[in-house]
Amino acid sequence: MPKKRKSRGRSKGDKGKSSRIQCDGCGAWVPRDKVIKVTKPVSIIDPQLAKELAKQGAQIYRRVVTKYYCVSCAIFQRVVKVRAKEERKVSKPIK
Ligand SMILES: [Zn+2]
Repeated sequence: MPKKRKSRGRSKGDKGKSSRIQCDGCGAWVPRDKVIKVTKPVSIIDPQLAKELAKQGAQIYRRVVTKYYCVSCAIFQRVVKVRAKEERKVSKPIK
């Protein structure tokens, strides 16, 4: 059977099963090695207000939030993009 991707979209290898994680977008249960992990700093304050406060020299606390998305939610939220046929063959780390 022809393969769309070398890794079949996962990082499992031949280890059998892997635990599941709930998607933060839709709530689907996705295998841990297939899920797309996004870690970014998030400010609690409204961005407009944060910009104004930063201009006046205030230190704004940003906490680091990690989210897990299923493939369809990651594409919908533009975390990852659909790649060309030849590009899919190369495994590329998700930033
Ligand atoms: Zn999802």
